[in-house]
Amino acid sequence: MYHRTQTRPVRVGNLTIGGSDQVIVQSMTTTKTADVKATVEQIHRLEEAGCQVVRVTVNNMEAAEAIKEIKKNISIPLVSDIHFDYKLALKAIENGIDKVRINPGNIGKREKVEEVVRACKANGVPIRIGVNAGSLEKHLLEKYGYPTAEAMVESALHHIAILEELDFHDIIVSLKASNVPLAIEAYQKAAAAFNYPLHLGITEAGTLFAGTVKSAAGLGTLLAQGIGSTMRVSLSADPVEEIKVGRELLKTFGLLSDAATLISCPTCGRIEIDLISVANEIEDYISSIKAPIKVAVLGCAVNGPGEAREADIGIAGARGEGLLFKHGEIARKIPEENLVEELKKEIDELADIYHRT
Ligand code: SF4
Repeated sequence: MYHRTQTRPVRVGNLTIGGSDQVIVQSMTTTKTADVKATVEQIHRLEEAGCQVVRVTVNNMEAAEAIKEIKKNISIPLVSDIHFDYKLALKAIENGIDKVRINPGNIGKREKVEEVVRACKANGVPIRIGVNAGSLEKHLLEKYGYPTAEAMVESALHHIAILEELDFHDIIVSLKASNVPLAIEAYQKAAAAFNYPLHLGITEAGTLFAGTVKSAAGLGTLLAQGIGSTMRVSLSADPVEEIKVGRELLKTFGLLSDAATLISCPTCGRIEIDLISVANEIEDYISSIKAPIKVAVLGCAVNGPGEAREADIGIAGARGEGLLFKHGEIARKIPEENLVEELKKEIDELADIYHRT
């Protein structure tokens, strides 16, 4: 199996996907791409949340035309999602797109595929092959009976072969399925079959709640095995939520070096403060902190500081007040009403120290 560090590095705009332990988090806009203002606004919100690559649908010529203007107003690489129509791909490339998601086997005549590949080569644009269990080629469904991991990998290899034949190797591959065990198996088989970087995703995962659980189960399993160089969490929700979930998942596996983590207790009968609101407020606050700080929020001081010894900073509730502790040692007492503000200040100071050193 090719670990993500052993995959082929592929340039996507100013980023490299593959060839390292870095996993790039991406999302997709939900606006009409031709509505440049709304699309750019949404991309700015995504960028702020930590999105590193963003995809837009290019389903018509207006969308392909809009790419030029969108590109001028954003700073992360832009990917166009195209199905079948090679003319849209050519227009997107002409307008400065950084990556094209298109399956070469679905473009049609060889001359059209060659034209797209030529344009990609001339502009340094990679191609993502997107295999989806729900839209496998008819001959594979006939051969395997239903979408299997083998069928999905065979589909990927078929599209890869078309590009390789044209001496094109800037390829990224996804093998998405909404069935989590199927997606896991397909990605595992793909990681054994070729060394192009893999774009992970559980497609149609569902709502914020169910989709987060499904994505964490599927993508988490793969990330833990060293599979995947980029990922998109797909949720029926504001795409900013996809970024939040994706980043949290990477933090879980130590794959995000510039993000703060929250440790909070589940609460119990010993609780002395309104811990749930404090934890939510701090979680929200640290989402924009770009430093690897561990923050603990605990309901009481009985086990608190000890339970969170690995945290850089934290609070443990006491009656009407909180104990501020650093690296498991109590630093001072703070009245309950000032707890959140004081903790935020301390977090900022730690982040400053991190950025200065
Ligand atoms: Fe209970 Fe205190 Fe542990 Fe929270 S830290 S779960 S309140 S014992």
